[in-house]
Amino acid sequence: MSNEASIERVDLTIVGGGMVGVALACALAPSGLSIRILERRDEAPQCLLDALSSLAEHGYDPRVSALTCASQQFLTHLGAWPHVLAARACAYTDMTVWDGRGRGEIHFSARDLHEPCLGHIVENRVTLAALYRVMQTHDNIEFVSGAQIESVSAPDAQGCRTLRLGNGDTLHTALLVGADGAQSRIRALTGMGATEWDYGHHAIVTTIETQQPHQNTCWQRFTEDGPLALLPLPDASGRTLSIVWSTSPAHARELMALDDAAFCAALGAAFEYRLGPILRCDRRYLHPLRQRHAQRYVQAGLALVGDAAHTIHPLAGQGVNLGLLDAAALAEVILDAVARGEAPGDARVLRRYQRQRRADNLQTAAAMEGFRRLFDDLPAPLRLLRSSGMNLVDRLAPVKQHLVLMAMGLRGDVPRLARRPLR
Ligand SMILES: Cc1cc2nc3c(=O)[nH]c(=O)nc-3n(C[C@H](O)[C@H](O)[C@H](O)COP(=O)(O)OP(=O)(O)OC[C@H]3O[C@@H](n4cnc5c(N)ncnc54)[C@H](O)[C@@H]3O)c2cc1C
Repeated sequence: MSNEASIERVDLTIVGGGMVGVALACALAPSGLSIRILERRDEAPQCLLDALSSLAEHGYDPRVSALTCASQQFLTHLGAWPHVLAARACAYTDMTVWDGRGRGEIHFSARDLHEPCLGHIVENRVTLAALYRVMQTHDNIEFVSGAQIESVSAPDAQGCRTLRLGNGDTLHTALLVGADGAQSRIRALTGMGATEWDYGHHAIVTTIETQQPHQNTCWQRFTEDGPLALLPLPDASGRTLSIVWSTSPAHARELMALDDAAFCAALGAAFEYRLGPILRCDRRYLHPLRQRHAQRYVQAGLALVGDAAHTIHPLAGQGVNLGLLDAAALAEVILDAVARGEAPGDARVLRRYQRQRRADNLQTAAAMEGFRRLFDDLPAPLRLLRSSGMNLVDRLAPVKQHLVLMAMGLRGDVPRLARRPLR
């Protein structure tokens, strides 16, 4: 963009160049609409791509996601999945979940479903870089780094919005999409209310090395303090994992204050040494966890996707998966509208997206909340019941199969672009 203030027109403006915003842009590129992504961070996409070309020299990104088969399918549709696999990803075949205060345990295995895996653990920067690579092949997507949004106008008669940017530029757009994450400025500037509450958990994330191999398994231990997840990472030794340790804010601060050796010892004990002692950990990062849900996802000329619309507890690793399904559903609705000659920012068009996604996302958020409460500090008889319930589910093959297929994104109302072709 030039240094002089200007007034420009684009069909679609996406604020937020994270995984969900860039996936949406790539999905909509075949429409021929002019698309602009406005990203607050200063680094150009090429910086991340250059860094990834020497991935082996870099440590692991502390932020990883367990991508479901539906997300894999959507990324395949976009052409990004081969780039993910060419960088690095760890297919996990098993999942073990157990009650830290009882004897309940559930084990899920891809073998039982005749599937090659249950999903993939992928570093967020690998997914983002794969999407950047696809984005760069589309001439109608422009990515602007270091963008600041000063204001957003109300919709005009056609539903178009005008954005004023920090550099003095004005942008007129037929459709504005807020993909700017949990603290969405677009949600705030447009008065889209959100219901939110504190989970009373902070999550510590880091990369660790264990004595024994991870066996391509996701491990999760539930305690009254919160869930502790160990997720396998792709390395030759098979002993490197990413952790998400959700616990009370006070306990999280205590853990953050420990030196590495003491932290590894505390982690080993909390994980019941299922993979032996923890040998090493990288730098730790702390994330306060809040549940948020926008009361509406759309207005005329405006839609919210991903964390801008909803954030949930990471305990089932569904956050970005829901966001990618939002992107797939919104893209589908807009592609259909454009083919029919309808305006993409028309409120009736956008409501189709809201109908598809909001109930589904609310249901997942409620399930996460239910799960979290199930592991609150319960009296002993209820703890016994909880453990017996887990063991019962473990033996009920059809129930177990339903749960795991839902978690893999292979059941339910999956958008067309994320649906696996029938085999
Ligand atoms: C500890 C932890 C573990 C998690 N584990 C998992 C997991 O295993 N699986 C899973 O599916 N999900 C997981 N999640 C959730 C997942 O990380 C998020 O759902 C996902 O990152 C959301 O993607 P997004 O693109 O919507 O938002 P973000 O990743 O937050 O991207 C938003 C983008 O918008 C930009 N931006 C922000 N404000 C502005 C602005 N004003 N103007 C312009 N640009 C702006 C940001 O710089 C960023 O690039 C986890 C979350 C946490 C906290």
